[in-house]
Amino acid sequence: MKIAILDRDGCLNQWDGESFIASPDAWQPLPGALEAVARLNRAGWHVVIATNQPGLGRGLFDVTELNAVHARMHKELAAAGARVDAVFFCPHAPDENCECRKPGKALFEQIAERFGVDGRELWVMGSCAAHLQAGAAMGARLFLVCTGASADVALDGALPPGIPAGTRRFASLEALADMLVPEIPVEPQADGS
Ligand SMILES: [Zn+2]
Repeated sequence: MKIAILDRDGCLNQWDGESFIASPDAWQPLPGALEAVARLNRAGWHVVIATNQPGLGRGLFDVTELNAVHARMHKELAAAGARVDAVFFCPHAPDENCECRKPGKALFEQIAERFGVDGRELWVMGSCAAHLQAGAAMGARLFLVCTGASADVALDGALPPGIPAGTRRFASLEALADMLVPEIPVEPQADGS
């Protein structure tokens, strides 16, 4: 089984790297990202999201509002023919010192347990170091998408600080899906010559 663990903000939806997505209207997909999930689904990946949502712990929004954001996300995914099986989130503020806030790996362990897989079956895709560090702690395959918090990262040269060694990088989730799930070329038509 192949499980893709996506970061949410800045990987699937637009994000400036610091503000909070507190309402459904604030959740806007990145270009091509929903279609990328659909392609991964068709090629056999189960796609789940693991996201830190410290705005919950800080009281900036509540679980009802988070659920409304995710309802919009699932609706837009479905309209693109895509499916995210589950959303795992850390609801804590950084000063609560929980184990589930990434780069802690507790969310990823829950995902592996839910699907009955080990770390080698996890494909971790995201735009921030903490997400990839949690993946590295699981022995997962690691993919940096250079959108959101990593929009300024170059596609070549040294990896940015905090990104685990061995991480492969792509311009976007769409570009990553292009590599993992290439379009099947159309057979050339015989022209009789
Ligand atoms: Zn937590």
